[in-house]
Amino acid sequence: HLSKRLARAAAYVRPGDRLADIGSDHAYLPCALVLDHVISFAVAGEVVPGPFQSAKKQVESLNLKENIQVRLGDGLDVVSEEDQLTVITICGMGGHLIASILERATQQKKLNGQERLILQPNVDEYILRKWLVENQYAVTAEEILEEKGKFYEIIVAEKEEALPIAVTEKDLTYGFFLKEQQDPIFRKKWEKELKKREQVVENLKKAAIPQSEKIVSFNIQISEIKELLKK
Ligand code: SAM
Repeated sequence: HLSKRLARAAAYVRPGDRLADIGSDHAYLPCALVLDHVISFAVAGEVVPGPFQSAKKQVESLNLKENIQVRLGDGLDVVSEEDQLTVITICGMGGHLIASILERATQQKKLNGQERLILQPNVDEYILRKWLVENQYAVTAEEILEEKGKFYEIIVAEKEEALPIAVTEKDLTYGFFLKEQQDPIFRKKWEKELKKREQVVENLKKAAIPQSEKIVSFNIQISEIKELLKK
């Protein structure tokens, strides 16, 4: 049974896709997709021996060795052209780490540009969106969800065919679709971020030596978030 977070990411995998799940840990995501008969081939990649063993155990105990290959290695080092991948999932890590995995894969020519990327950064969504845009990926879908008091974003991207559209800082910070959709969870996340910044400003003002530059910078963010939420 997948967590809501992983289930929402898995929903972007298409029937018959050939998947590489990088940072697979227990390989829950590929196992669920094979058990649900959505896919019949997956690579589960792990760089840390402990999670690698957990993934192997999980795949063996579910009798899925025919369908899921668990491989030890850094990022997409573990895949090759022969795998004929059509989708890559990288979930549950910081956006910075996800971007660095994709950057290394690009340099090693591990991506042919045909793969759909399903990414679920826990933090640093801005950095990840920036990497995607700078590497000619178009974000094709975005989702936000809340689980156990935490907010998670899912970003789906595909290599861009047409000329890229003009991308703004706001697109990168708040999300291309997320800021338009204004899902209640999205509003809740940014209400919370707004309060955090307001609190910081209060604290800075009360400090022995108020740092006015910092206060101004936070005030800019505060008015931007208010504008975003139309408050
Ligand atoms: N993807 C699962 C999920 O979303 O529930 C597991 C997330 S877990 C917090 C992150 C996993 O990524 C860890 O098991 C870690 O060992 C693995 N990891 C971190 N950096 C990696 C890399 N460069 N290549 C492969 N796996 C990596």
